[in-house]
Amino acid sequence: MQLIELNGRSYRLPTRPTVVICADGCDPAYIEAGLEAGVLPTVARWRERGFYALADAVMPTFTNPNNLSIVTGGPPSVHGISGNFALDRESSAEIMMTDPEMVRGETILALMSQAGVPTAAITAKDKLRRMLGSGLDIGRTGICFSSEQADRCTLTEHGIEGVEALVGRAAPDMYSADLSLFVLDAGIRLVEEERARLLYLSLSDYVQHGHAPGEPEALAFHRALDERLARLEELGCVVAVTADHGMNDKALPDGGPHVLFLEDILNAQFGAGAVRVICPITDPFVRHHGALGSFVRVYRKTDLPLAALAHSVRALPGVDAVLSRAEASALYELPYDREADLVVTGDRNTVIGASTAEHDLSALAGHRLRSHGGASEQTVPFLLSHKLTLDYLRLSQSQRLRNFAIFEFALGGVTP
Ligand SMILES: [Zn+2]
Repeated sequence: MQLIELNGRSYRLPTRPTVVICADGCDPAYIEAGLEAGVLPTVARWRERGFYALADAVMPTFTNPNNLSIVTGGPPSVHGISGNFALDRESSAEIMMTDPEMVRGETILALMSQAGVPTAAITAKDKLRRMLGSGLDIGRTGICFSSEQADRCTLTEHGIEGVEALVGRAAPDMYSADLSLFVLDAGIRLVEEERARLLYLSLSDYVQHGHAPGEPEALAFHRALDERLARLEELGCVVAVTADHGMNDKALPDGGPHVLFLEDILNAQFGAGAVRVICPITDPFVRHHGALGSFVRVYRKTDLPLAALAHSVRALPGVDAVLSRAEASALYELPYDREADLVVTGDRNTVIGASTAEHDLSALAGHRLRSHGGASEQTVPFLLSHKLTLDYLRLSQSQRLRNFAIFEFALGGVTP
C-alpha cells in the first residue's frame, strides 16, 4: 500500500475516486434544516449508514485559513495562512493572502499529484485557486481551475481546457448559487470521464451569507448539493463533506448590522492614528458581507501600552475574546510571525469592523447581515459517504474532530 506523509499524518493513495468537498459556510444548522424539510435524502442516508459528526474549523473561521488547513491537514501555524487579508509586518503593506508564495510547506493535493494520482482542485472563487493548486503537476496529473473563470482555462495554466463545454453551460455569475453548483458539476464530469481520482471541490458561501437555514433559497441550494452528492455516490466515489466555517445572524432587531467599528472607537479614545484594525475577512471581490466578520487584528501605531488597549476592548459589549499576540498564536495555532498585537473576536451576534468609512454596507440594504470569523462559527459538519473503520471510529469518539482531518478520514478511514 502506497502512502504519502505530510505534517504528521499519513494518506493512502486512493484506489477509487475520492471527493472531498468544502461546503463554504455550511453551518450544521443548514444540514438540520435541510433534513427536517426532507431535501437532503443523500445526507440523511450517509448519516445513517456512513458517518456524521460535528467538527471544529480553525480560527479565524474564514475561508482561506480553513481551506489551507483542509488541504495540508494542519492548523495555520503549519501553513501560514491566517486570514484572507493581512497586514504584512515587514512592509506594513495591507495584502490579500492569496499568493502561493505565502503558503508554507506542501499540500496533500500536490504530493498526490506528484505521486502520480490524477488530482483535481476546483474552487468557486479564483482567489483561492493558485494557493490550492500550488505544487500540482499541471498538465500531467494535475487540474486546477475556478468556476468563476471557467471560461478561460488553458492546458498550461489549469491542466484543462473547454470547461464550459465539459460541464454543458457557461461560467456562472460571481454572485450566484451556480458558482458552487458549477464546481460540483465539473467534479462529476471529471469523475465520469476518469480524468481525476482525487478531487477537492471548494464551494462559495454566497447563499449562506444571504439566507438563513430554513429560507427557500437555502433549502433549494442544499437540495441541489444533495443531488450532486447522490450522483457522486452512484459513480462509486468515496465522498467527504466538511466546511470552512459556520454562519450566524449578525443583525440588530431593526435589521441593521450589529457592528463595532473598533478602529474608530480606539482612535477616539487613544488619539487619531493610535491603532490600525485589520479585518481578515476582507475580499475586494465580494460584496455580500461588507468586509464585516467576527475576528479582527489590532496593530499599535504608537507606544500605547498593550494592557490599557486590551482593557478598553474587553469593556466593549459584543466582544467575545481579546488575546495578545502570544496568546492568540498558542490558543488558535496561528503563525506567530504573522500575528498582530491583539486579536479581538465578536460574539455570536456581533461583527467587528475597522472604521465606518472602510465598509460599504450598501450591498446589505434589505437583508440581515450573516457572517462568521469567531468561535461561534467554529462548529462544522463532518460527513462521509462510507462507514468508518473500527480504528477511525474509535479515534472519532476519543477526541473532537477537526475539519482538516477530512482527507485522512476519506482516504484511509473508511471501509470498502
Ligand atoms: Zn468561507
